[in-house]
Amino acid sequence: MAGVSYPYPYEAKVSQTLFDRASLVTPGGVNSPVRAFRAVGGTPRFMVSGTGPYLTDADGREYVDLVCSWGPMILGHAHPAVVEAIQAAVARGTSFGTPGEGEVALAEEIVERIEPVEQVRLVSSGTEATMSAIRLARGFTGRAKVVKFAGCYHGHVDALLAAAGSGLATFALPDTPGVTGAQAGDTIVLPYNDLDSVRAAFAAHPGEIACVITEAAPGNMGVVTPAEGFNQGLADLCRENGALYISDEVMTGFRTSRAGWYGVDGVKPDLMTFGKVMGGGFPAAAFGGRADVMGYLAPAGPVYQAGTLSGNPVATAAGLAQLRLLDGAAYEKVDAVSAQIQGLVTDALAKEGVAHRLQTASNMFSVFFTEDEVKNYDDAKKQESFRFNGFFHSMLSQGVYLPPSAFESWFVSTAHDEQAVERIAAALPAAARAAAQATPEGTA
Ligand code: PLP
Repeated sequence: MAGVSYPYPYEAKVSQTLFDRASLVTPGGVNSPVRAFRAVGGTPRFMVSGTGPYLTDADGREYVDLVCSWGPMILGHAHPAVVEAIQAAVARGTSFGTPGEGEVALAEEIVERIEPVEQVRLVSSGTEATMSAIRLARGFTGRAKVVKFAGCYHGHVDALLAAAGSGLATFALPDTPGVTGAQAGDTIVLPYNDLDSVRAAFAAHPGEIACVITEAAPGNMGVVTPAEGFNQGLADLCRENGALYISDEVMTGFRTSRAGWYGVDGVKPDLMTFGKVMGGGFPAAAFGGRADVMGYLAPAGPVYQAGTLSGNPVATAAGLAQLRLLDGAAYEKVDAVSAQIQGLVTDALAKEGVAHRLQTASNMFSVFFTEDEVKNYDDAKKQESFRFNGFFHSMLSQGVYLPPSAFESWFVSTAHDEQAVERIAAALPAAARAAAQATPEGTA
């Protein structure tokens, strides 16, 4: 059956040629670091097309896609209705720099789905959404400090590219050259799932904290489910201390349910951020929330925020077409296929005696190569991630495309049908053996 049709390891000649070309003109050969396969080694696959649950690379090999563009492609690739909406929008013109009906309709759809969002502003990337939400929170509260959690990623916003070690109210050191101490100096990084440390931070900085930002259910240290009461505790602590609670739903929004993670835990944030699914594969993102807070944004209020391509007509048409297809039945389908794949992965790894732990946030899931529960970033880093590399390359060689890092969520779509699941099932036994045989130095 397909899924075992390629020898392992195999060459990706055309991808390698493209990567060589890319490396001459683009730093590291990619436009976003994780695409370069540095964590797992090997040649990144250059994709030329996608249909339903499949991607085809430049060497003509087909893969079952378990990345789904890192979340957006929840209906699979090139869904006919989404393509049709995009084609119709393109034919009308690609950018006007004026308001248009598409952006109103997309904003209405978001407001209708997610009750805490009374008003929303469209932007072009998740990074822009979180950056703008933080500026707004600072402008609204007149305070400077921001609390974030180690292992939570909110895009490459300067102030948020900081993850200090765990401990109480650690002031963040920049994670990357180029972010100054001043830019990260108002960021307080705390261990995830630890309300006591948040309480302590508020006590240590009375009247100084503008907001707490958290991934609604983290997927960027692998999937770490918020402990019972954690998000509600954050919302309560923020309210008691006059700070805003920002729930980053760029990854979970419109994916983990019709109303994202809010639809799962019902905890009401002051501000929320969105991206990925709401753009239907185009650069569209948003932030929104309480009308009194959003009213502080220009031109209604004093906090400046803008974008030449914000609310772009093609992006909004794609996003709207995708959201309108995402009804209850669609989420049931994604949840069911996700559960099926989770079961197959667990069975295969258990059969080979590989210590692992599968963690989920609705239909998002990831595999940690450890038996212990992963509650925060320190726990996640304790896993035997070298086992993932063997596992990843075996799956890749058998035509299954996983995220090229042990610290990422896997994503599925409504298009992942029985045939796609069969291919995954056929690839898993050899991949589980590769994980079992892997050593810290490399695959045995
Ligand atoms: N927030 C979360 C939770 C994310 O997962 C991401 C990207 O993966 C971002 C923000 C940044 O979004 P973008 O890559 O569109 O800038």
